[in-house]
Amino acid sequence: MDIKEFQELMRKLYYIKDSRRGVFKTYLWLIEEVGELSEAIRKGRKDDIASEMADVIAWLSSLANLLNIDLNEAILKKYGKGVCPRCLRIPCECEEHIR
Ligand SMILES: [Zn+2]
Repeated sequence: MDIKEFQELMRKLYYIKDSRRGVFKTYLWLIEEVGELSEAIRKGRKDDIASEMADVIAWLSSLANLLNIDLNEAILKKYGKGVCPRCLRIPCECEEHIR
């Protein structure tokens, strides 16, 4: 399953619920999942980290669906050239705080 297929799956599974919840509350759920990812990393449990990463992408996909954004297109537009979009180098040579 690629990113486009995954986003479409999230649409089939959750779009009705996501629409009822709305953009901002869906965004809050994404942030909550990022917090859970942080906790999993802190505890160092690899299975939990992987599971939380999946949840983060799922909620990001829900948010993208609500905002009518194609994540695959967005990724390709920004990173499709295979170089850092800012410094155009491989690997990136930007200052650490810039990405
Ligand atoms: Zn760079």
